[in-house]
Amino acid sequence: MAAVFTFGASPAEQMPRSSVKREPMSAFSRRSFLTGPLLAAGCAALPVQGRAAAPTAKAQGPGVYRYKLGDYQLTALYDGIWYVPIDDKFVRNASAAAVNEALAAGFLPPSVLPISFTALLVNTGARLVLIDTGTAGQITDTAGFMNANLAAAGIKPDAIDTILISHFHPDHIDGIKTKDGDKVFANAEILVPEPEWKFWMDDGTMAQSTGAVHRYFLNARRIFKDIAKEVRPFQPGAEVAPGIVSVPAFGHTPGHTAFAIHSGNQSMLAMSDTAREPWLFVRHPEWQPSYDMDGPQAMKTRTDMLDRAAADRMLVEAYHFPFPACGHIVRSGTGYELVPAMWEPF
Ligand SMILES: [Zn+2]
Repeated sequence: MAAVFTFGASPAEQMPRSSVKREPMSAFSRRSFLTGPLLAAGCAALPVQGRAAAPTAKAQGPGVYRYKLGDYQLTALYDGIWYVPIDDKFVRNASAAAVNEALAAGFLPPSVLPISFTALLVNTGARLVLIDTGTAGQITDTAGFMNANLAAAGIKPDAIDTILISHFHPDHIDGIKTKDGDKVFANAEILVPEPEWKFWMDDGTMAQSTGAVHRYFLNARRIFKDIAKEVRPFQPGAEVAPGIVSVPAFGHTPGHTAFAIHSGNQSMLAMSDTAREPWLFVRHPEWQPSYDMDGPQAMKTRTDMLDRAAADRMLVEAYHFPFPACGHIVRSGTGYELVPAMWEPF
C-alpha cells in the first residue's frame, strides 16, 4: 500500500505501528553526522570537477538592510567588524573564564571580541538623518565600508541633512571626516549631546587623561575643532529631528545618548552603545566592561533600558549588534535576550 502522508503527522505516525523501527537517539549523534558510513562512502564517489567551476567570492553582497517604522524608512548601513583580543581586565566584575563561557554560549571563540559596526539612516520622507557615522577605515582594515554601502543604497553623502552623534568614541565619529581631514557629508548639520561636547572638548579634563581615553580626546579635536561652528550641541531628552527624541543614556561615556524614533503609531529605540555585544551584555547586563567609563552608571542605564524595551516589546537597534542590528529584547534567566529581526524583502 502506498504511504499517504497528511499534515500534522510525522512519517513514523503514518506507518503501521508494527513497522515502526525505533532508532536509538545515538543515530543522530555528532559522530554519525560527521563520520557516518553514508557520508564517507558518498564523498569518495562524487565527481570533484563541476560544470560551473566558479571562483569563491571574496566578500559579501552590500551590507544594506531596509525596514519600516510607520511612514519612515530605516536603513541599516554596515561598516564592518573589528576583532579585538580581550583579557581578564575586559570585564571589571567578571572573570576571563566567565566571559569566555559567555562567548562559547554565543558560539564564538574565546578571548576575542567581535565588534560589529552598523550605522542607522532614517528617511522621514522629507529628511535623511544618519545616526553615527562608521569608522571610515580609521580603526581596522576589516571595517570602513559604510560609505560603500550608502552608495549601494543609492544615496550620496551630500544628500544627508542631519547627523546625530550618540557619543565621541572614535568608532562613532570617525566617519565625519576622511583620513586626510576632509568632511564626508558636505551638507549635513551635526548634532552632538551637550554633556559629551563639554567633557571631550575640555582641555583641563584632557590634561588629566591617559592611555586610550587620552587618544579619544585628541581624536575628538581632530574631528571637531575646525568645524566647531557647524556643530550644534543638544540637551539629551530634546527632540533632535522630526520624530526623533534623544534619550539620556549616560555611563558608557559622560554624555552617551540613545534615540527614540516615532512615526505614525510606531516607535523604536536606537540604543547606541548601551548594551553593546548581545552575547555578553544583553545576557549579562550587570557585567561592567572596561570601555564603560562609569561602570555602575552604565550598568543601571543598561538594565533600565533593556527592561523598558522588554516590557514595551519595542523594536530596538544598536550600533554593535550583529547586522542588521535590529530586533526585540525579551527577559531571559537573570538577564535578557536579543531576538533578531527577520530579513524581509520589502
Ligand atoms: Zn561604539
